[in-house]
Amino acid sequence: MKTPTLLNYAADQWIAGAGGLADVQSAVSGEVIAATGSQGLDFRAMLEHGRKIGGPALRAMTFHQRAWMLKDLANAIMARKEELYELSYETGATRTDGWIDIEGGAGTLFSFSSKGRRELPNGRVLIDGAMEPLSRGGSFVGQHVYTPLQGVAVHINAFNFPIWGMLEKLGPTLLAGVPAIVKPGSSTGYLTEAAFRIMIEAGVLPPGALQLIMGGVGDLLDHLTLQDVVSFTGSAATAMKLQTHPVIARESVRFVAERDSLNASILGPDSGPDTPEFDLFVKEVAREMTVKAGQKCTAIRRAMAPAAHIDAVEQALRDRLAKVRVGDPREEGVTMGALASHAQRDSVRAAVAELAKSARIVSGDPETSPVAGNGAFMSPILLRSDDPWGNDSVHDVEAFGPVSTIMPYRDLDDAIALANRGMGSLALSLFTFDPAVAEAFVLGAGAYHGRMVIIDRTSARESTGHGSPLPVLVHGGPGRAGGGEEMGGIRGVVHYMQRTALQGSPAVLSSIVGQWLPGAPKVEGELHPFRRRIAELDIGYTLKTASRTITIEDIEHFAHFTGDTFYAHMDEEAARASPIFGGRVAHGYLILSFAAGLFVDAPPGPVLANTGLDNLRFLTPVYPGDSIRVELTVKSKSVRDEEKGEVRWAVQVFNQKDEAVASYELLTMNRP
Ligand code: NAP
Repeated sequence: MKTPTLLNYAADQWIAGAGGLADVQSAVSGEVIAATGSQGLDFRAMLEHGRKIGGPALRAMTFHQRAWMLKDLANAIMARKEELYELSYETGATRTDGWIDIEGGAGTLFSFSSKGRRELPNGRVLIDGAMEPLSRGGSFVGQHVYTPLQGVAVHINAFNFPIWGMLEKLGPTLLAGVPAIVKPGSSTGYLTEAAFRIMIEAGVLPPGALQLIMGGVGDLLDHLTLQDVVSFTGSAATAMKLQTHPVIARESVRFVAERDSLNASILGPDSGPDTPEFDLFVKEVAREMTVKAGQKCTAIRRAMAPAAHIDAVEQALRDRLAKVRVGDPREEGVTMGALASHAQRDSVRAAVAELAKSARIVSGDPETSPVAGNGAFMSPILLRSDDPWGNDSVHDVEAFGPVSTIMPYRDLDDAIALANRGMGSLALSLFTFDPAVAEAFVLGAGAYHGRMVIIDRTSARESTGHGSPLPVLVHGGPGRAGGGEEMGGIRGVVHYMQRTALQGSPAVLSSIVGQWLPGAPKVEGELHPFRRRIAELDIGYTLKTASRTITIEDIEHFAHFTGDTFYAHMDEEAARASPIFGGRVAHGYLILSFAAGLFVDAPPGPVLANTGLDNLRFLTPVYPGDSIRVELTVKSKSVRDEEKGEVRWAVQVFNQKDEAVASYELLTMNRP
């Protein structure tokens, strides 16, 4: 049978590399299963296509439209996931490993879709922080905003998660409105190509939004500009090569680097062999060594335990690792598959040899394959370093496979210092049931680690574990880990946007950001705003109510009715002695309730429900005899589906002297 050639996707066309194709082998059988290459692609034209066709089309969409598109892409992948699992086995991945890659990848898109619709406006500009008053009269203000970059995101990915690695970058990129060129790791790129093809065939992406390079990137980097982003995942050596590319330096091209990392896991000083934390620690170290055959950037490479317990840890880990069944990942009962390629196994063997110069192997044999045939199999390798301060390699050499080194520490400070000796990591886990140990670790080691997970008997069952990057949390780490940050919810989206400090009048800035800002015009109309559907509610549309006087009887009635008889409302003498009130005052909640009574329009209509309040502040006390009135202004609105949407109202309550008494944002669910 002819070996299939993997195709590039350039300028919306599937194109085979013109010669110089490289063979790709199955990790399990060693057979050639595909040919790959990108020779002959016009890389400059690909960038231009993204900039001229993909970018404008994506930027014409709102955040919500792009978020729906992500959901469609995730659904398309889920609908055809079994095709992907079949290919995933060839990369050496078990079904569980494949689940992380395939369904974890789709899940990341779902998560960004959901966050995009809930946390981003249904517009094209994203507000960053609050408006800053810049003038005494309020006619000149400042507001930070984000707009999408107008170039292309170049995603260079590692081989280990061919689908998740692509999707965790694409989610934030597409949500930001930026087109991407994806370049997967060559040894497992066939799985990326299959998932990419599913997304193209879903037919939901605008032209130019995505392109794919199935081989070297040629002169692509020579044509980057300030509007492009390179997001790289891979080894420190490649990152350094790319980061120092003269065009990237000259044009200040944004470069996000996710590199290797000597992640640590620490058994707390309080967690002896008779504690649940000890068992949880051993289980997690063994799991991290074997999931994905240890080819995870977040895997535990250094496992640290109190010196008094290191022998017990070693024994417990050896017992656990003895139960690992290495083999063809399609086979029932196999718990660890193959490394992704022979080259990868060679590089892990070389790294283990380096580590073994100063640490000893206490479990596993790196040189003999535990499985007959030509697959890239290897047994899990546990090393022990009894002198971790006299041994640099365990803190420096990453064996990107099923390899971990245990080491003793003297006390908490020693453990923190050892953890930090990795010089920057993606993930650290700590197994302790003592909050003081956890606090000391966070203060002592937080600056060196991108994510810290503290696991104990109360959280273990529901914990997502040491090694799982999550779409809602930041993934990345300082120093050796690359200094980059990805995901983290909307934080990851703004990596593909430019923050600009806008200055101008509230009216102009309001219309730019699509939100009413304090000081912008308020427009009154005949119709009560509760009678208008979302489509008919203009930003700034305002209801100014009549006023209502608050009496001492109102305050007493409210106090007895609700049970809130706090002295400031009910005890004249004590209230007079208060440094804040100087006399009895109305309850804040009474003011809110009366405010609602003033602005609500009662009969059924487009407003379906009150769903909450944000940013509530009571600004001036209201005394018996004071009158209050309300200004209710449409601040922003967002249609969720055909049935409903959300309106955010700016509510300002004033007294008879026009002093602001209370302000808040009211949320209502409305008909669109
Ligand atoms: P790698 O050899 O550095 O390759 C990473 C990517 O860079 C691949 O797509 C590779 O393509 C590409 N590449 C290599 N040289 C290039 C060049 N001169 N110009 C443009 N692209 C180039 O790393 P890997 O072996 O694939 O991945 C394993 C490493 O990645 C480990 O060290 C691991 O710790 C790290 N990693 C980090 C994270 C993280 O999130 N921090 C996640 C996963 C993996 P080819 O495959 O075609 O050479």
